[in-house]
Amino acid sequence: MPALRIEKKSGEWKVAPQLRDYEALRESFSWAKAAAEELQGLPGGRGLNIGFEAVDRHALGARSEQCAIRFLQREGGHEDFSYGRLYEATNRFANLLASLGLKKGDRVFGLLGRVPELYVTALGALKAGAVFCPLFSAFGPEPIQTRLSLGEGKLLVTTAALYQKKVAAIRASLPYLKHVILVDAAARPDTIGWREAMSNASPDFVVPPTDPEDLALLHFTSGTTGKPKGALHVHQAILAHHVTGRLALDFRAGDVFWCTADPGWVTGTSYGILSPLSNGVTMVVDAQDFDAQRWYQILEEQRVSVWYTAPTAVRMMMKGGSELSRGRDLSRLRFIASVGEPLNPEAVLWGVEALGLPIHDNWWQTETGGIMIANYAAMDIKPGSMGRPLPGIEAGVVRRREDGSVEVLPDGEPGELALRPGWPSMFRGYLNEEARYRKCFAGNWYLTGDLAKRDTEGYYWFVGRADDMIKSAGHLIGPFEVESALLEHAAVAEAGVIGKPDSTVGEVVKAFVSLKPGYEAGETLKRELLGFARTRLGAAVAPKEIDILPALPRTRSGKILRRLLKARELGLPEGDTSTLEGGA
Ligand code: ATP
Ligand code: MG
Repeated sequence: MPALRIEKKSGEWKVAPQLRDYEALRESFSWAKAAAEELQGLPGGRGLNIGFEAVDRHALGARSEQCAIRFLQREGGHEDFSYGRLYEATNRFANLLASLGLKKGDRVFGLLGRVPELYVTALGALKAGAVFCPLFSAFGPEPIQTRLSLGEGKLLVTTAALYQKKVAAIRASLPYLKHVILVDAAARPDTIGWREAMSNASPDFVVPPTDPEDLALLHFTSGTTGKPKGALHVHQAILAHHVTGRLALDFRAGDVFWCTADPGWVTGTSYGILSPLSNGVTMVVDAQDFDAQRWYQILEEQRVSVWYTAPTAVRMMMKGGSELSRGRDLSRLRFIASVGEPLNPEAVLWGVEALGLPIHDNWWQTETGGIMIANYAAMDIKPGSMGRPLPGIEAGVVRRREDGSVEVLPDGEPGELALRPGWPSMFRGYLNEEARYRKCFAGNWYLTGDLAKRDTEGYYWFVGRADDMIKSAGHLIGPFEVESALLEHAAVAEAGVIGKPDSTVGEVVKAFVSLKPGYEAGETLKRELLGFARTRLGAAVAPKEIDILPALPRTRSGKILRRLLKARELGLPEGDTSTLEGGA
């Protein structure tokens, strides 16, 4: 493990972090107390509703005029939604659902990019008691069809172009789908026009009684390890969204927050909509996809104070070179965090160089609904570590025994990362896969499918996904370690590492890399990279083979698809590729 440490000195804060004394807060924290202090609950003791906490309580309170979301348009320009405006729009959408005959628990799907209608759909559906499910707008017809039928989607909100291209032809095969709303078209025989329907709906709406255990969200996993699973979440999840936003992203009044996640992925909802709004901050949403220049410009011009992004995006910015950040006034930026994949130590340090701040890695999954392990503003960072569990979260590194019981492993030993069930945003099931859900639990632990180690200071270190581990000549090798070492080489932009079956040693480590601009692929560079990795990792762990690819296959949420690299290497079927970026 790298010995490097970025110290946080308490005398140097511009503003004191929300979580100052980690140990003390862990000690005193309880979810019940947090719920009483940080959420409002529906008036009259009628329960807890995500939409109410995210929008109504602010709109009906002191934040009605405050900007809730600033939408940056592709061609420049922006549209602001105050909490008051968002309240009215979501009220109208909730009324529209009732007029279409949608009932509590019915599924509302969004197939939209980062446009205002997506946010109104999600929040309005939650207020009405419907279950919201986002889809990647880049999905092709097949993944859309699978998810809409599995999820029994009753209403779909999309654009005219997306509908024409991807949904019209499969509509007849979707018996549950009763209505389609097009956000940018007038009513047609088989679709509803957003504008007209919204203006006919009343702007007054009272959120109906909502049990904290009522279903609220359906999120399909990224499909990194196989066929995506549909994780079900309940209204109570908002407590975890809220608390983790405050403690792990350091939200406070006056913040301008930018989450770059695609709305089709769980991060795009938990932290791209719900957590920041519940915390009453102002969000920036950019309709455009990644562009390094544009991103620096947004950080500067929108005076972003808290930024939440992903390792892929960071690596793409690194590829562009830190010169792009020169001359930018990023003095408003106070906190940067990343999620989705391991954040290589190289990337944490690049943050300091290019943005003036380290990047704080945090770990969670679709199933956990919110951040579980994090590097906090006030805590030293050990680059390469995911940080420590949130207050209210008990984590452990365990081994599942043959008899189904679970053994907690000592510090330093790699094992499966496990969490004690009971936090509010924990998934309540996999859609139609009860047995698979049950298999995730053993000995009063939820087993995450990720392998990790904990050090003596309680920091967690990601080792790899259980499925990606490589067994070579008696060594268990995590791809992350090997990939991080390769990324230290100036030529390497991305790295993905797999185990390739070998009759002598079981598996040999094989690496795939893509290069930064200005570097030439060829045998000389390959040899250099293999030698470079060997000096850093030793012969037992270093890759024996390396291929240079123009780009690595990734999921739409930005994760390197190692199983696809492996299938292609071995000439095996590619399996479910519905979430492959650039795929159909
Ligand atoms: P599937 O479950 O369908 O294979 P997925 O696990 O990639 O897909 P998500 O729920 O979107 O779907 O991703 C969660 C996973 O991403 C985690 O289990 C972990 O493997 C990885 N991950 C997320 N954050 C981190 C992090 N900070 N460090 C390392 N890995 C991370
Ligand atoms: Mg997973």
